[in-house]
Amino acid sequence: MAVNRNAVQIALMPGDGIGTEVSEACMGVLEVLARRHALGLHAETLRAGAMAYRDTGSAMDEATFERARAADAILLGAMGWPGIRYPDGTEIAPQLDLRFRLGLYAGVRPIRALPGVPLALADPRAAQIDMVILRESTEGLFAARGKGELIDDREARDTMVITRATTERLSHFAFDLARRRAARRGRPGRVTLVDKANVFTGFAFMRKVFHEVAAQHPEVEAAHHYIDAMALDMVRRPWDFDVLPTENMFGDILSDLGAGLIGGMGFAPSADIGDGHAVFQPSHGTAPDIAGQGIANPTAMLLSAAMMLDWLAGRGAGPGWAEAAAELEAAVDAVFAAGLRTPDIGGRAGTAEVARAVTERLGLGA
Ligand code: ATP
Ligand code: MG
Repeated sequence: MAVNRNAVQIALMPGDGIGTEVSEACMGVLEVLARRHALGLHAETLRAGAMAYRDTGSAMDEATFERARAADAILLGAMGWPGIRYPDGTEIAPQLDLRFRLGLYAGVRPIRALPGVPLALADPRAAQIDMVILRESTEGLFAARGKGELIDDREARDTMVITRATTERLSHFAFDLARRRAARRGRPGRVTLVDKANVFTGFAFMRKVFHEVAAQHPEVEAAHHYIDAMALDMVRRPWDFDVLPTENMFGDILSDLGAGLIGGMGFAPSADIGDGHAVFQPSHGTAPDIAGQGIANPTAMLLSAAMMLDWLAGRGAGPGWAEAAAELEAAVDAVFAAGLRTPDIGGRAGTAEVARAVTERLGLGA
């Protein structure tokens, strides 16, 4: 189902902690962008998360879920709070329920060096880091989520699930993404599956299915790499990688490692995409240590919003949306290239100041 280009409905779920702060900053920027490009963008704010749970007994009630499901896209801040937990002791994480209930199998985690942002690696090639970790988000080791087995006080078991259907979908997604990136970047695309096929049956199966799908995408190079070697190469030569599909938990870990390379969680956007739904949110959490101070870096949120605009363009919202996405990304790059520094990278620009700088840039056509 394509979106109605004159009335694109966004469900905004600010959540908790800095989620609400970066959401507010982001919506201000999106409103300016929508005006500039005459986008029919409508946002409805929905309450969910740890504070909602504390106040209502439900982290995301069914009516809220249904409204989120009915929206064309979901834009989410972050959810969870220390000390507020479900009765079984697990974290309040309705964003995971969205992932599972809406079938958002593709966790898209771009890791890109922004101009001017200090990088973890001194090698000048680090400025060329531009990869996408594609985290399978509905199965793998997380399939056992909440269903692990505590056998007795000496043993516990979790099960890893790899299915052909999801591996095929994720692999096609990876090759399609690599093809679009290749066109944009003017160089051939390469998809590298990250696994541990030498030890686990599930990963050997994943690799087999991946290469079957790869044969249907001959224009994109296909490769595979072991997770341990990948951890090493993420630090040694991260500029060599393009699209990296991987299992759920490996993707979870690699995306934090990747964020560490490019300035930290404040610079790492993400999208969880399924066949009909998608959630866009920064990779970071609610950061209770800095919440309420107005110093959270909204860059990851802004870049997530750019991913949302681009995805909506592909769903039929129209070319203006892709232009808006590119303009937003360029404006974010431009303010950092011009010397803006947020506290997480040793500067002083707070959340609102970043939003203001990006908005001004938009006016200049970035
Ligand atoms: P989650 O369990 O949701 O992944 P987490 O415990 O891993 O959360 P985050 O909330 O992602 O933690 O943040 C880790 C630390 O990184 C925070 O304590 C904070 O200092 C820093 N941080 C995260 N996001 C930002 C941001 N947008 N701006 C500045 N600092 C941030
Ligand atoms: Mg984390």
